[in-house]
Amino acid sequence: MKTQFKPKILLIYTGGTIGMIKDFETGSLKAFNFAKLIKSVPELKQLECEIETISFENPIDSSNMNPSEWVKIASIIEENYANFDGFVVLHGSDTMSYSASALSFMLENLAKPVVFTGSQLPIGDLRTDAKENLITAIQIASLQHKNKPVITEVCLYFEYKLYRGNRTTKINAEHFNAFLSPNYIPLAESGVHLKVNYEYLFPKNAKKLIVHKKIDDNVAILKIFPGINENVLSAIINIAGLKGIVLETYGAGNAPTEDWLINVLKKAIKNGLQVVNVTQCSAGSVDMGKYETSSMLKKIGVISGKDITTESAITKLMYLLGQNVSPKVFKTIFETSLRGEIS
Ligand code: ASP
Repeated sequence: MKTQFKPKILLIYTGGTIGMIKDFETGSLKAFNFAKLIKSVPELKQLECEIETISFENPIDSSNMNPSEWVKIASIIEENYANFDGFVVLHGSDTMSYSASALSFMLENLAKPVVFTGSQLPIGDLRTDAKENLITAIQIASLQHKNKPVITEVCLYFEYKLYRGNRTTKINAEHFNAFLSPNYIPLAESGVHLKVNYEYLFPKNAKKLIVHKKIDDNVAILKIFPGINENVLSAIINIAGLKGIVLETYGAGNAPTEDWLINVLKKAIKNGLQVVNVTQCSAGSVDMGKYETSSMLKKIGVISGKDITTESAITKLMYLLGQNVSPKVFKTIFETSLRGEIS
């Protein structure tokens, strides 16, 4: 009898609520040894895949995530890439959208699923959302068609929905339904059946995986607000060593038309600063030139983030700056979709 092919899934535990326990002295949640907690999910044995786990030596609350931790995750995937059919990254929800975005850029030519998940309540809690998230994330990472993975991109699974990771944003600190992908429909939905929206998946590729580990953190995010003054803008724009900034503007990419604002930005762009325009709105796109209040931004060479999320914009900036992309083509490359992060 032919034995059934069982996908091999690597579970990478970085930290986050999913594996936390309450510190009896302080009452606050802190990261714990996941290997012990995974035993509290006997259902994992029923899944039609082989699961191995690997944990950060010191699991962290995702508020402590940073580029060197992203490199750690990317390196674990790289080292185990040939031996596994899919990867599930257990991660705190607070910065999960940033990490999923960063990893999407760092893993070029990905041909296997990398599914980020976590939970709002620890896996040991009676009312936990962790079990469903964990089990379904593993099932999704195991999905195969003709012995090839169905999903070949970095995604995020939370509360019955699978999203493209670099399209997500955390929108709720309490609800189990904590994420949104405002400008791209979910890749899959979990109900009685697991419904995959095949036409929205990232196209498959047969190229060799390239893992990019150079990330440049000389970047900043600045949210425009009524009352922002020249001192504030200049202080931020002129930070020593700053190479790129994500400007969160109003609506379709609009900002005050005051001369000082345009002049500060114009000078910075001339001096090599990459300025990316993203909208503060939770959905929709930047469209510079649509209103008079964005025409000048377009004219002075501000990059359009189009419908990218802030999380994706800042990590794309760090990634492209890390690649030393030539200033001549930086704007064009940023405005091009690399991993399906913009429409
Ligand atoms: N503070 C936690 C973290 O991001 C929250 C969570 O896991 O959902 O690590």
